[in-house]
Amino acid sequence: MSMTYGPELEEMRTSLRKFTTEKLEPLARQIDATDQLPPEVVPLLAEGGYLGMRLPVANGGMDANLSTYCLVLEEMSRVHRVFNLLVSASSGMAPAAIAHLGTPEQQRKYLDGVVSGQRRGAFALTEPEAGSDSAAMKTRAERRNGKWVLNGRKHYINGGHKADFIVVMAVTDPFKKSRGGITAFVVEKGAPGFEVARIEGTMGSAVIQLAELNFNDCTLDDSAVLGEVGEGFKVAMSHLSEGRMGISAACIGTSDRLLEMSIEYAKGRHTFGKPLASRQAIQWMLADSAVELACARALTYGTLKSLELGEDVGVQPNMAKLHCSEMVGRIADRAVQIHGGMGIVKGFPVERFYRDVRHYRVGDGTSEVQRIVIARSLVGRGH
Ligand SMILES: Cc1cc2nc3c(=O)[nH]c(=O)nc-3n(C[C@H](O)[C@H](O)[C@H](O)COP(=O)(O)OP(=O)(O)OC[C@H]3O[C@@H](n4cnc5c(N)ncnc54)[C@H](O)[C@@H]3O)c2cc1C
Repeated sequence: MSMTYGPELEEMRTSLRKFTTEKLEPLARQIDATDQLPPEVVPLLAEGGYLGMRLPVANGGMDANLSTYCLVLEEMSRVHRVFNLLVSASSGMAPAAIAHLGTPEQQRKYLDGVVSGQRRGAFALTEPEAGSDSAAMKTRAERRNGKWVLNGRKHYINGGHKADFIVVMAVTDPFKKSRGGITAFVVEKGAPGFEVARIEGTMGSAVIQLAELNFNDCTLDDSAVLGEVGEGFKVAMSHLSEGRMGISAACIGTSDRLLEMSIEYAKGRHTFGKPLASRQAIQWMLADSAVELACARALTYGTLKSLELGEDVGVQPNMAKLHCSEMVGRIADRAVQIHGGMGIVKGFPVERFYRDVRHYRVGDGTSEVQRIVIARSLVGRGH
């Protein structure tokens, strides 16, 4: 059982921690104070090589392995969820799908500029009537006069309103649906018939927003098809494990920071003449958080190692996502309790972390969906 990423990456953690503490921490305070993303954030992440770090070298990336990427997400998440989102969006579903399945022309057209932060992608799967049951999607792409015509609505799309290109899943064969009837398309900002219908604020930091996207006779050439016609659902599902490992790492990073802050506060705060840290009630909260975090590290780092070795990890990424996303909620709750009034005051990171981490149990497959997948691996699909 390993509680570390190994000597090489742990060495990298030291320099990353210096970067996040010295450069990102002041910006996180600025984000909370203004509810805006300071303009220097994206260039700073790009300069550090963190944007598009999982993309192949040919696309300007570093071809970073999954563990390195997760370490970066972990460290970014110790500071602010928005840094983790910027890094993961630049290596995540949309750019990764284009890097792996796109034609050379699509790669050049969409990925040039991702690493420098000049271009951004988004991934649109979820619909009002198709969330957990994504195969129930209704967005339709039909063939008309040698073109593809998209009609439908996607919602809760992370950064969809700021994206230069969006990988959109649409039904091309309603009889086959998820078994060969869904296709991935790349839709560019400003495409005729495509509009950002609404921008939703979310629980947590105001800079994290989700978009509702409408497609009304949005007409596309064949060159907009990503991969093969009918293979879209495979595209959507193929990167999910990676996404789950990234979320697990992010939850570990935030949990680590919250535990550290809780210990520090408990040592410094005196009530009835003694430090909080000397009280059993407080010690037990700290101990519970430390144990849960140790289990999260063992499961996550162990799964990452197996993935790198090409081993079959089965539902371990689902287990890691489930455990880590629920753990960070409990650790955030204990951190608020230990900090007392200070834990609920706006402008203090504990309060913001408490709200931000609630997203993790919903996005990228809810806790219930993870449990369904894990349980099916135990009892079989028929039950
Ligand atoms: C921060 C954030 C970012 C997101 N970003 C994106 C994005 O970029 N692109 C994108 O396409 N989508 C995105 N989503 C959408 C996300 O994938 C969906 O919200 C999620 O899949 C759940 O779908 P839903 O909201 O429709 O909930 P529903 O599917 O309606 O579920 C509602 C509740 O019922 C439970 N439930 C559903 N079915 C079952 C069942 N069979 N048994 C037991 N319980 C069940 C769920 O677990 C949940 O608790 C994002 C969501 C969040 C929160």
